[in-house]
Amino acid sequence: MNVEEIYKEAEALLEGHFILSSGNHSNRYLQSAKVLENPKRAAILAEALAQLIKASGVEVDTVCAPALGGILAGYELARALGVRSIFVERKEGAMELRRGFEVKQGEKILICEDIITTGGSAMEAATIIESLGAEVVGFASLANRGFCQRVGSNIPPKSECKLPSDKPLFSLEDFTFEMYTPDACPMCQAGSEAIKPGSRNA
Ligand code: ZN
Repeated sequence: MNVEEIYKEAEALLEGHFILSSGNHSNRYLQSAKVLENPKRAAILAEALAQLIKASGVEVDTVCAPALGGILAGYELARALGVRSIFVERKEGAMELRRGFEVKQGEKILICEDIITTGGSAMEAATIIESLGAEVVGFASLANRGFCQRVGSNIPPKSECKLPSDKPLFSLEDFTFEMYTPDACPMCQAGSEAIKPGSRNA
């Protein structure tokens, strides 16, 4: 399966001149919600991710996603694994388990995102889940930006990665982009103007 091709077909992988959320510029951008716009495509990706997890032997009772970005990916992954799906969400800045969702002592939880950048939200979700007595067995995402090392990839983790090195990260593909600070961006120097994706119609 060519994951990059699937993202391109979904117009989730953009090429041009973009301002990333970090403020840096890049010639590529992942609009990762777009790949889940088509439920059939979402199911295909989640099934492939579920196969990776099953092959690893890691046991999962429940998939937990950080809202909002992780919910669709987490739900589809839970369906593919045949397990329960829950999510945590921010309430006044802090991540919480709400809406009647509960976890049991020792319950094996996989934290799932649509995309892992540095893993900050995933790590916050893991911290709240473990504080409630469940066990975080690993992390999963459809796409990985290459800051954290996914199982099977030879791209080493960067210092920005917030995920623990003793737990696996399952992901379908590394999307590593060339990034530039605005004053060192060759596209800016060539006279092109960087745009913020998603704001085209603003
Ligand atoms: Zn630029």
